[in-house]
Amino acid sequence: MAQDSFIITNNNEISTAKLASEASRKGQPCPFCAIANGNGAAKIFFESEQVLALLDHRPIAEGHTLVIPKQHFSDVTQIPQQLGGELHHIVGKVVGAQRSALRVAGAMVLNNNLIDQHVSHYHIHVIPRRVADGISLAKGQSVPSGSRRLLEVADLLKAAIQ
Ligand SMILES: [Zn+2]
Repeated sequence: MAQDSFIITNNNEISTAKLASEASRKGQPCPFCAIANGNGAAKIFFESEQVLALLDHRPIAEGHTLVIPKQHFSDVTQIPQQLGGELHHIVGKVVGAQRSALRVAGAMVLNNNLIDQHVSHYHIHVIPRRVADGISLAKGQSVPSGSRRLLEVADLLKAAIQ
């Protein structure tokens, strides 16, 4: 029991250190703002006035998508009500496109806030799911970044999104 307490305390220290590290990088340009301004490499397959849908560059499933606001907001506590509605409306469109283009059964929709949030620009993960696909948040990336198939997937989703 004492060992468990030590591990938990140690993890908290690591998380705190990580948050401090992210805070210290605040002077650096935000990669998602760069993408929204047309200055970042990204496989964007849908754009509305306020929102972008693009493929995650470290996908845990084929078609793993990020839905982001074009304007910088750090996390969910900062998202205005109207924008929150549009973000989830686009999430629904992405899920529909994944179903029709990739023939998947469902989707996992999630948003990390501060802990495990690697980019401090609000983003929603939309991860296609198949029955018994073995996807686990703890396993991390399962599709190689930059593969030719990912380029094809972006085109498939772009053609399917309505
Ligand atoms: Zn940003």
